[in-house]
Amino acid sequence: MKIGCPKEIKPQEFRVGITPNAAQEAVGRGHSVVIETSAGVGSGFSDEDYVAVGASILGTAEEVFATADMIVKVKEPQPVERKMLREGQLLFTYLHLAPDPAQTKDLLESGATCIAYETVTDDRGGLPLLAPMSEVAGRLAPQVGAWTLQKANGGRGVLMGGVPGVGPARVVVIGGGVVGTHAAKVAAGMGADVTVLDRSLPRLRYLDDVFGGLFKNQYSSAGSTIELVRQADLVIGAVLVHGAAAPKLISRAQLSEMKPGAAIVDVAIDQGGCFETSHATTHQDPIYDVDGIMHYCVANMPGAVARTSTIALGNATLPFMLALATKGWKKACADDKHLLNGLNVHAGKLTYAAVGEALGLET
Ligand code: NAD
Repeated sequence: MKIGCPKEIKPQEFRVGITPNAAQEAVGRGHSVVIETSAGVGSGFSDEDYVAVGASILGTAEEVFATADMIVKVKEPQPVERKMLREGQLLFTYLHLAPDPAQTKDLLESGATCIAYETVTDDRGGLPLLAPMSEVAGRLAPQVGAWTLQKANGGRGVLMGGVPGVGPARVVVIGGGVVGTHAAKVAAGMGADVTVLDRSLPRLRYLDDVFGGLFKNQYSSAGSTIELVRQADLVIGAVLVHGAAAPKLISRAQLSEMKPGAAIVDVAIDQGGCFETSHATTHQDPIYDVDGIMHYCVANMPGAVARTSTIALGNATLPFMLALATKGWKKACADDKHLLNGLNVHAGKLTYAAVGEALGLET
């Protein structure tokens, strides 16, 4: 199969859909790979890196779309890219169609077959193509939280690990899933005093068994949450209620009970955030102050570490990309129910019920 990878054109998107390592694997199985010139530069991969493993470089996105049987990307196709999709072509990327009727309409009209990373599943009920980005955002959260706590950024001026004779920062992580666990591991590794809150007892048991010596855990109730948040230097929001907006766990009134200059990193901002005072920010202007509490609410945190994110995403998408290229989408999806769950659009029809329900369209 001819696999194509255009340069991402969404503002501030530096990731790329295919790494040179992934291209090499595909070429080694007899596929041809075409990459738009400079597509990998934002993640530290030059055109030469791709050529060295047998991929070809094309000058424009138009040429990539015209040549390839399957397009592999990172972000949902932008309007100009959607016009380049054609009937029978395969698109494999993040789509997030439910809140995006314009994109859905264009994909239906294109006649392409579109498989969304975010709805591919695994045997444990997880989302294997979303997990790497949660891992990245989780591990990044204490790093940006530590920066936000610095005096020059409006923070309390508290060092995460303290020093001999001075205690560490108190970090509270609300939600102990993928983001929360990775955030807690890194915060504890920085020497902070960390407590993770979750509502799932099985999850708390798991955290206790595996990380009991590294960080504490507590059942998340309104009372336990505010009690811990009052004492915290840094609060990391990492809750997710599947299929719903993030619950607002800390109100504006409760913010005044926090220590002046304390920091909030609301990773759940892409689902609306779990603090009443959260609103999405950008990498250019990531933090703002509400009542003396510094908020960091960047909705696409993995973009800050594009190279790590690209490689992590590429590791997760590679087996699916190879299956699609080698078997064709029909056989690949027939053989793997989890990949089939990724199928959102085929030949002018919506094939994913939740998207149909959200948009009031037939599936
Ligand atoms: P996850 O499903 O692995 O974990 C969510 C956890 O929240 C679960 O353990 C659940 O039991 C817990 N939870 C639900 N309600 C709770 C409550 N009231 N109190 C305490 N815990 C509660 O999800 P995840 O992959 O860790 O993602 C967490 C959030 O981070 C999601 O909103 C996700 O979209 C977001 N995210 C944001 C970025 C970004 O760049 N900002 C990147 C990746 C993920």
